Amino acid sequence: MNDKPKIFIVEDEKHIARFLQLALEKEGFRTATESNGRRAYEKIVQDHYDVVLLDIMLPEMDGMEVCKLVREISDVPIIMLTARDEVKDQVSGLNLGANDYMTKPFASEVLIAKIRGILSRRDNIPREEEKRFITGSVMLYPERYEVKVGGEPVELTHREYELLQYLVENKNRVLNRDQILQQVWGYDYTGDTNVVDVYISYLRTKIDYKYNERHIHTIRGVGYVLKD
Ligand code: CA
Repeated sequence: MNDKPKIFIVEDEKHIARFLQLALEKEGFRTATESNGRRAYEKIVQDHYDVVLLDIMLPEMDGMEVCKLVREISDVPIIMLTARDEVKDQVSGLNLGANDYMTKPFASEVLIAKIRGILSRRDNIPREEEKRFITGSVMLYPERYEVKVGGEPVELTHREYELLQYLVENKNRVLNRDQILQQVWGYDYTGDTNVVDVYISYLRTKIDYKYNERHIHTIRGVGYVLKD
């Protein structure tokens, strides 16, 4: 029996669909993709998916319409993929029965955390058994975006949290700035790679210096590694 959750990626922009597919498969999910709204609806009717990622602007039938029709026959979890700042779309998506939405561009970590959250609520896993990452005295709760160091909650911005989670998930592996940028800032980030160094210094201030520990190490000329 193959019990890996299957994620249906409905997205007509090929590079985004590919990005999502790679990120999800790397995390152990199965994926299927579809670029046409009407065909996506037909597939949802016929096949079983654990979560549907649904873009809004799609050929033949838009994501809103797909969501509305799917809700008449199925309560499969739907995460709408909306364009930046389209608050109107987010609200209508939720009104039509979508479970959540992501504003493009987004980092795959955030999406994966949402998917895991949806799946674990569905599977009715008690909070105590929810997924967490532990490195030394640092503990991350991805479903709540919470971080504790030595049992004390630490306030991080969303981006700092995502960066820390990426480092923790890849602990003891050296990550270069480009990898970090791609994973944490997203596939279409076009700013300066210095932003990585700046956020690393924020994290060091909040995690390492404050607690007088050393988790985040600089590998000169390469990037960063988080060690136990
Ligand atoms: Ca689209």
